[in-house]
Amino acid sequence: MKTYQPITPEIIDKLKAITGPSYVKTDRDILLQYQTDYETNPAMFRVPEAAVLPANAEEISQIVKLANEYDFPITVRGGGTSLAAGAIPVCGGLVLSMERLNKIIELNEEGMYMTVEAGVRTIDMQNEAKKVGLLYAGDPSSAESCLIGGNLATNAGGLRAVRYGVTRDQVYSLEIVTPTGDIVECGRILKKCSTGYDLEQLIIGSEGTLGIITKVTVKLIPLPPYRIDVLAIYTDPKKALYMVPKLLKAGVDPTSVEYMDNSYVRDTADYCQYSDMPHYEDGIYVIITVETFREDELDAKMDTVCTICEESGAVEVLEADDRIWNMRRNVQTSCEMISKVFLTDDVVVPVHKIASTIEKIMEIGENYPFQVKINAHIGDGNLHIVLCKMDMSDGEWNKNVEEFHQQVYAYAYSVGGRLAGEHGIGAKKLKYMEQFTPQGELKVMKTIKRAMDPNLILNPGKVIDA
Ligand SMILES: Cc1cc2nc3c(=O)[nH]c(=O)nc-3n(C[C@H](O)[C@H](O)[C@H](O)COP(=O)(O)OP(=O)(O)OC[C@H]3O[C@@H](n4cnc5c(N)ncnc54)[C@H](O)[C@@H]3O)c2cc1C
Repeated sequence: MKTYQPITPEIIDKLKAITGPSYVKTDRDILLQYQTDYETNPAMFRVPEAAVLPANAEEISQIVKLANEYDFPITVRGGGTSLAAGAIPVCGGLVLSMERLNKIIELNEEGMYMTVEAGVRTIDMQNEAKKVGLLYAGDPSSAESCLIGGNLATNAGGLRAVRYGVTRDQVYSLEIVTPTGDIVECGRILKKCSTGYDLEQLIIGSEGTLGIITKVTVKLIPLPPYRIDVLAIYTDPKKALYMVPKLLKAGVDPTSVEYMDNSYVRDTADYCQYSDMPHYEDGIYVIITVETFREDELDAKMDTVCTICEESGAVEVLEADDRIWNMRRNVQTSCEMISKVFLTDDVVVPVHKIASTIEKIMEIGENYPFQVKINAHIGDGNLHIVLCKMDMSDGEWNKNVEEFHQQVYAYAYSVGGRLAGEHGIGAKKLKYMEQFTPQGELKVMKTIKRAMDPNLILNPGKVIDA
């Protein structure tokens, strides 16, 4: 990896001249806050040399030009909820926090779009749209703490992707500061466009390596007024998993189809202090959400969902209350109760391969001493595997995790899957990206990165080894 120049007092003075002195941080106590995101393994932490909190795209542009001139790296930070070590400044240098770009600029009801600065929290956008009967459909479980720029950078998925798609499906246009400091608008508020390269889609999912997203215009859609959450409980994972294709073919167009294995049912119920969850001891939960614009349509779809779940072997099917979503949103945090260090993985496979993939992963997991927990967006082929270190030694943990991953990723690729469905590659999967990505694809990605960021300033050590 490239060696960069240190951030000198001269550079600090120049940064202060751009943003004002109080927005440049060099105190170690403050910098420690930026040494990690949601990564729990201290071996991956890295304290930056400085942090900066710019107010707008113009200031960011000047900072990026300074980084090119003095050769120091920049790691952009949104809400710091990355599960791929994406916001860790692995090469040191400067952390650039987006927290001050937090204005909702326009909500246009007639045009059904919203323009915001990139540091607005996802939940604030959802709530703003809801006030006028519209829906912003991007919905990662971390919506209360992540920022929209981070969602675009990682192409976040989440809980409604089965029906509405992922973040890239919600975006009309965005503004970026390029790796050399230009401010560029990509995309427009158009339903269709075939005018040159699709730059906004190239930036979405690039994890801060091809541009700093400063402004976003997202699509809004009518908010369906009727909604029901069904909880189907199984005791046999196979029966739960093989129900999904039947559900997807039945025409109910579910918004969410979420899977929690029994360890998650128990851990999240304990974490949320719900003592009377049904089938706490042996249940596997599948949460199915259906939304409609008419009440009778909701009733009909609810009947279909219940019939499919019962016929596929559910031991209980009931209308779920809010506790289910609270449990589902806390799958990640509940792991903190189990183990100080745990590893969250994110693999995607074709939807029709998710059942066999989960079965295979459970089979692989039986050969290892750590606890393997699985929750999945089973309606879109995306599964999260959590490994808990417990009291294992670092050496044993690293060896076992590596072996486990090699088998899981090899299997995922053998069925047409990929390393990440929504969390991104970050620093965590950089080496697997090199190993598993077909050479032709990797070459094109590296060519794009080097062409756009010739000095490798933006988020080095992430996604690809350029
Ligand atoms: C409890 C929990 C639940 C989660 N649930 C989901 C889920 O359901 N679905 C899902 O997809 N993810 C989920 N995540 C992962 C995470 O929330 C997402 O990846 C989210 O999109 C990250 O946003 P952020 O603002 O926190 O970005 P950060 O963590 O700060 O950064 C993530 C990456 O994006 C880059 N970046 C951030 N902002 C910008 C910007 N403005 N311009 C360019 N690059 C930028 C960073 O450099 C980094 O590489 C979850 C995480 C947690 C902790």
